[in-house]
Amino acid sequence: MNPNTKKHHLLPMYWGWSMDIANPSEEHQMLRELVCDFVNEYVEPQSLECDRDERFNLDLLRSLGELGLLGLTASEEFGGAGLDAVATVIVHEELSASDPGFALAYLAHSMLFVNNLEYNGDESQRARILPKVCSGEWIGAMAMSEPDVGTDVLGLSTTANKRDDGSWVINGRKMWITNGCLDDDGTPADVVWVYAKTGVDDNGKTQISTFLVENGMPGYSVGQKIVGKTGMRASNTAELVFEDCIVPAENLVGGVGDSMIHMMRNLELERLTLAAMSLGIARRSLDEMNKYATDREAFGRQIRDFGQMQRYIGESWAKYRAMRAYIYDTANNMALGKTGQRLDSDGVKLFATTAAKEIADAAMQVMGGYGYVSEYVVERLWRDSKLLEIGGGTIESHQKNITRDLSKSPEVIND
Ligand SMILES: Cc1cc2nc3c(=O)[nH]c(=O)nc-3n(C[C@H](O)[C@H](O)[C@H](O)COP(=O)(O)OP(=O)(O)OC[C@H]3O[C@@H](n4cnc5c(N)ncnc54)[C@H](O)[C@@H]3O)c2cc1C
Repeated sequence: MNPNTKKHHLLPMYWGWSMDIANPSEEHQMLRELVCDFVNEYVEPQSLECDRDERFNLDLLRSLGELGLLGLTASEEFGGAGLDAVATVIVHEELSASDPGFALAYLAHSMLFVNNLEYNGDESQRARILPKVCSGEWIGAMAMSEPDVGTDVLGLSTTANKRDDGSWVINGRKMWITNGCLDDDGTPADVVWVYAKTGVDDNGKTQISTFLVENGMPGYSVGQKIVGKTGMRASNTAELVFEDCIVPAENLVGGVGDSMIHMMRNLELERLTLAAMSLGIARRSLDEMNKYATDREAFGRQIRDFGQMQRYIGESWAKYRAMRAYIYDTANNMALGKTGQRLDSDGVKLFATTAAKEIADAAMQVMGGYGYVSEYVVERLWRDSKLLEIGGGTIESHQKNITRDLSKSPEVIND
């Protein structure tokens, strides 16, 4: 089964010619081909088994470092590829068309950690850590959520207190952390981007600061690997424990209380790439259902001749094309490390995650009993798609954010 059956074309935007916003340059086209080849050769053959066994393929993730994909948006001087937001969508779309669980582990490393460090870390933090995470020597994670707090970020209870020598002591637990553990033996992420409360500001508002916690720092450990997930079973999700965890002064990112700035600089890309994962799921589901509708016959006809099957296929095509256009349009307008696409980063994730779930569901329905078993792939995509309505911001939080932003800037509707 080939997840990458679509043809890509690169044509200049002259009158009478078409322009593909998903492959706006030769470099993007080449990147897509590189990832497609990698996916066909290495990702697709292991996807069914890793999902079944709830096994994270650490070696496969590390090997993306050799292709320059782990530091996709990081500076070239520190081992990154220095590419743009469109490139991030291409990679997440292609990986997710085969194995969304593996794509999620990639996203946690390259977007939640590497891109965060690239745009928020200081020169010495970037020079010391980026080469390691770009090569795959170190695997990174980002820890915001806690057992009692997800959406309500300011309610987090992990604390960091400054010691007399300038170092910090962190106490608390982080929950649901992708790449939080690297194996089943309690090996934690090599480096994790941690948000912790450092007090209150002059207005009495919770002050949150960002820390780089590295494996080997005292008091940093895995609480548990979370098993029994509905989907994304090829990625590791863990609870992390910080118990009197000592972090040196130089591992504070930016200044005290800077976390909101850090989140703003990274969040738009996080949402965009989660939406790109939904795009991969949608494309693969559509491809599978379309092929099946030709191959399968009932009552002496191909099932694609039945009007009710046509509704599933036709509506899935339209939704897929709409999400593709919205996601790549947003990516083409997004400048990394800056804000400016907040409304549409919420919009693409809100629309694409639910659309992908609906398309995977349509595919399963078209494929009948075969759609319901793992060998035919769509049941895995269906399970994986659900996480994207929750992780990195729930669909309710996107609805809330969009409504708030449209109240502040109603003119964007008629722009
Ligand atoms: C597989 C997996 C991987 C993950 N990876 C990471 C990771 O790498 N790093 C990390 O930090 N986190 C991670 N998460 C956590 C994820 O981001 C959170 O689950 C998510 O933000 C929601 O938080 P919560 O689960 O605490 O739900 P809650 O915030 O408690 O929400 C519960 C429900 O209440 C609704 N709700 C909450 N507030 C409001 C409101 N104001 N208005 C309307 N409805 C509201 C929510 O939309 C939701 O439906 C992961 C989660 C999973 C399942």
